[in-house]
Amino acid sequence: MLMEKPSAGLWRKIKARYNLVGNSCKTCGKAYFPPRIVCRKCGRESKMENKKFSGNGEVYSFTKIRVPPDTFKDEAPYIVGVVKLDEGPMVEGHILENGTEIKIGTKVRSAFRRMYVDGEEGLIYYHYKFEPV
Ligand SMILES: [Zn+2]
Repeated sequence: MLMEKPSAGLWRKIKARYNLVGNSCKTCGKAYFPPRIVCRKCGRESKMENKKFSGNGEVYSFTKIRVPPDTFKDEAPYIVGVVKLDEGPMVEGHILENGTEIKIGTKVRSAFRRMYVDGEEGLIYYHYKFEPV
């Protein structure tokens, strides 16, 4: 099995996502994840700086997956959803139940992140998980 080495640039990108690093605009304060080169609101006036998100937020929408893709077949059923971070951006991810019934508005924090490389296709997967606070 031949594993291709990802480029340094790609690893930097992955590391940013893995650590929930996005950016925010110094001009208006709007936060983005994933990071944007220019602020949607300020355009040419935007001054972007890196920002690490707390990982705290609330469930914005979710769905329970009962028939998963092969990659996650051992984990079904599981919940995937969109979490609205306290800082504003929406992030997709798995949401662990941990014995709590997940609802719209349930407070969550980022929990466990896992990343793996599919050696055959050279694809890299990353995702964060959220769990109820
Ligand atoms: Zn702005």
